Amino acid sequence: MTCTAIINRNNMNIHTQIPLRNFTTMRLGGPARFMVDVHSVEELRDVHKNARQQNLRIFVIGGGSNLIAPDEGFDGLIIHMRIPGIHIIDDQPGHTIIKAGAGESWDDLVSKSVDMRLSGIEAMSAIPGTVGAAPVQNIGAYGQDMSDTLVSLEAFDTTTGSIVTLSNEACGFSYRHSIFRGDEKGRYIITSITVKLYKTLPTAPFYDSLQAYFDAKNISVFTHQTVRDAVIAIRHDKLPDPQIIANSGSFFKNAIIDDWRLPELKAKYPTIKVFTMTENRIKIPTGWLIEAAGLKGSLLHGIRIYEKNALVLVNESATTYDDLAKARDEIITKIHDMFQIVIEQEPLEVR
Ligand SMILES: Cc1cc2nc3c(=O)[nH]c(=O)nc-3n(C[C@H](O)[C@H](O)[C@H](O)COP(=O)(O)OP(=O)(O)OC[C@H]3O[C@@H](n4cnc5c(N)ncnc54)[C@H](O)[C@@H]3O)c2cc1C
Repeated sequence: MTCTAIINRNNMNIHTQIPLRNFTTMRLGGPARFMVDVHSVEELRDVHKNARQQNLRIFVIGGGSNLIAPDEGFDGLIIHMRIPGIHIIDDQPGHTIIKAGAGESWDDLVSKSVDMRLSGIEAMSAIPGTVGAAPVQNIGAYGQDMSDTLVSLEAFDTTTGSIVTLSNEACGFSYRHSIFRGDEKGRYIITSITVKLYKTLPTAPFYDSLQAYFDAKNISVFTHQTVRDAVIAIRHDKLPDPQIIANSGSFFKNAIIDDWRLPELKAKYPTIKVFTMTENRIKIPTGWLIEAAGLKGSLLHGIRIYEKNALVLVNESATTYDDLAKARDEIITKIHDMFQIVIEQEPLEVR
């Protein structure tokens, strides 16, 4: 097939044989057969229709900060989400409702909400990536999750070719999870999100590490901006900047296990860190497990387990997906052998 076969009526540029390593922050991955930037719902409809007529598989990417691409690349069409727009759609005495295009930078949305003195997403400052990807893994940081503020989202349903509105409940959110990476993976292309933010000041106590930062700096008057500044400072200290050091943020999800296992784990590892989730489930920080396994700072197949945060894998000198997969599997095996806990990869894969 020629690339002109999928050029649509808007004469959008279809690029061919684009190395996915240039579009993922882990900087690995072979070529995408085709790639197109999509700036509107109309363009998305056209691209999807034409790709379907050509029997081309499609895959959507935003900033590539939670995505791993295989060495063989992608034999289909990558849709690079670029739909813009941040608009206030309702302003009430106690809250403001904002709609944001899926191609906007997530942190631009946070920054604007902080400028407007709105509460709800300020602790999620400086998370890389796009607005449209935020619901996919229900992004979260320092005690706030996407699911806390999302009212609804609009998405292109690839099974019907229509735009649908999905309520918060319909997204099936749970810890770093939603239907978009679960049962309905690949079905919806998110085109915008709508969030409800409150005209209240942030109040203490904050998430542990954020509170510790405020305490250490003797900060006791809190504004949206002080929270944003603190989060950015903490993140700067413990997370590598993907513009400088190739990484995908947390490479593993935190481990969620049944609470009946706790006494045995505590007996063996008295300093184990544990957070209660629900009545029967507990969360164990995977960074703690990796550190306790003595892996922090190790270099495996060109992949470094980041010295400042064991949950982060840094691509120091790996050149292939295979290198990353070997490093990942060795870590998973070691954690399993030591704690009998199976840890899971957080970033999704271009497949
Ligand atoms: C240094 C660093 C720090 C990070 N910190 C955090 C953190 O604190 N908390 C956190 O939760 N995450 C964190 N992340 C992970 C990442 O930033 C988020 O998951 C982010 O939402 C990914 O956005 P993206 O645009 O880069 O998505 P991509 O990586 O491009 O895509 C991720 C997935 O979403 C899908 N997708 C993307 N756009 C759409 C769309 N419009 N419609 C449907 N599906 C779509 C893709 O197909 C893919 O499956 C971090 C990553 C890095 C590199």
